Amino acid sequence: MPRRLLLIVLSLSFGVAPLASYGQSYSARDKTKLARSSKKNSELQYSLKWSLGRKAQRGWYLYVPLLQKTLNTESKPNTVEFAGSVMRWQKARGIFPNGVINSSTLYSFIKFWQSKRLKPIVLAREDQLITAPIREFYDPTRDSALLKVEKETYDSYRRMLKAAIDDPTLKLRADESGRLLPDEKFLTLVSTYRSPKYQASLRRKQPGASRAQIAFKSPHFTGRALDIYVGGEPVTTLDFNRGVQVKTPVYRWLVKNAERFGFYNYFYEPWHWEYAPKKEKAAK
Ligand SMILES: [Zn+2]
Repeated sequence: MPRRLLLIVLSLSFGVAPLASYGQSYSARDKTKLARSSKKNSELQYSLKWSLGRKAQRGWYLYVPLLQKTLNTESKPNTVEFAGSVMRWQKARGIFPNGVINSSTLYSFIKFWQSKRLKPIVLAREDQLITAPIREFYDPTRDSALLKVEKETYDSYRRMLKAAIDDPTLKLRADESGRLLPDEKFLTLVSTYRSPKYQASLRRKQPGASRAQIAFKSPHFTGRALDIYVGGEPVTTLDFNRGVQVKTPVYRWLVKNAERFGFYNYFYEPWHWEYAPKKEKAAK
């Protein structure tokens, strides 16, 4: 069948009966269609070619926890349920609803995740910053000038940390007062507020690094961006490293819970979280 005709047929057939919502059962016909979509998803999660800026990317398996959170499903990409959730997402956004995360659908998720981030990026004033205790940092030898963080962000981080420590499934090593023990690295702070001057020095140290790796206008200028240790090499974007990070229980916990504390992930960096509480949340 010619591709164009196939698209018409698919869109007509998908347009007839709205799919049942998550948790409900699908008709036999929908199941057949979604089974095909789920097969495609299980391939594309490793093979889809797309790009971020000028950097070529492969697959979307690194973003499965974020996709599941956004789609409000626990189902894996190779399931009919996952494909059904993708289809509903596509319908709501006017994207051809085939239940498959192709590049246009992936970009729609990225656009959504990016919309949650801090903006505009405004340099923190000195009186908005506090110095966090060195023991809360990943590197116990970190320069004492690099421990600053915006006050509200820090308070919210502390509340989030307490909730994580109180969750027995994470098995975080902490003392009675809810502080991580020195040998516990998960959820410690890797990097917080960075001054434009310090950011420039990072760029000089790594002249080969891309713009994306060491941004000229960094969210860290606001004091509201936290690099949090989630496993692996703390801040390395290699797919292998991010593959380790997105599997850790701590990262998965953050994806599910950080929003309650006003933190949103930069999808490409599992460690980078920005404090950007939404108005409707703050009103509660
Ligand atoms: Zn960061």
